[in-house]
Amino acid sequence: MKIEKINVTKEPLSLTNDGKLELVFLGVGSAFAHKHYQTNLLIVKGDRHILVDFGSTGPRALKGVAGLDCNDIEVILPTHSHNDHVGSIETLALMNRYVGQRFMNKPKLKMIINEDYQRVLWTHTLQGGLEWNEKDLNTSQKLSFSDFFDVIRPSWKTFQPREVYELDYSNIHLELFRTNHIPEQSDNWEASFISYGLFVDDRLFISGDTKYDPELLDMYADKSEVMFHDVQFFPGAVHAPLSDLKTMPDKWKKKTYLMHYADNYEDQDIKGFSDWAQEGVRYVFE
Ligand SMILES: [Zn+2]
Repeated sequence: MKIEKINVTKEPLSLTNDGKLELVFLGVGSAFAHKHYQTNLLIVKGDRHILVDFGSTGPRALKGVAGLDCNDIEVILPTHSHNDHVGSIETLALMNRYVGQRFMNKPKLKMIINEDYQRVLWTHTLQGGLEWNEKDLNTSQKLSFSDFFDVIRPSWKTFQPREVYELDYSNIHLELFRTNHIPEQSDNWEASFISYGLFVDDRLFISGDTKYDPELLDMYADKSEVMFHDVQFFPGAVHAPLSDLKTMPDKWKKKTYLMHYADNYEDQDIKGFSDWAQEGVRYVFE
């Protein structure tokens, strides 16, 4: 994997490439970080791109880190409903419907999402801000999910040991696996609220938000070329404590980049791991 700096003062990030799998973090910070934007990322390959999560820092990060605007984005994949992951999807949807489609000839925004999570995301997060923006005076019809998004539906792959959905979006192969993220008290993925991580092209593991989860790592770590893993710097709670991640075998640690980190990351010892994930660089897979 090659790491190349993006220089947005020269030109914005290209959302197409020569066909190599490429990963760009718009942010690598935790929900409450100030030194970095929230952990949202872009996957680019060939003529396709997928924006994974778009939190409350998303629009600024998209411009500042990648030189892009909301209307450059065609596909969004939300992993779970925390604000640092979905907080600006409303903005993306409104910009697309009322600016992109009306004035810029952009296609309707696409969303990669399964049926269960679509219902939850619409009802509990997006509906309040989106459904009342227009009204058909004849039918009193409010806007619905499908007015804003064309759905790309991943298919259900397996339930055990872990629920996994999969999708081929053009030449990008995605597995979406459930994670054990919230609440703090849930001790397995089935007891936790809907939350996903990603395995891309059978080589790139992105944990999503998750507690330390040896069963999940047993499923994916050996076959991953590179792993990006959620981290926190104290025990308990809803992310993976660094002290737990340090118990992974050396062969896994050395291919692991840590992401979703708090501002005091420089005080931490991550010897044995690959590095901190960085925003504003292209991770290009050979
Ligand atoms: Zn979260």
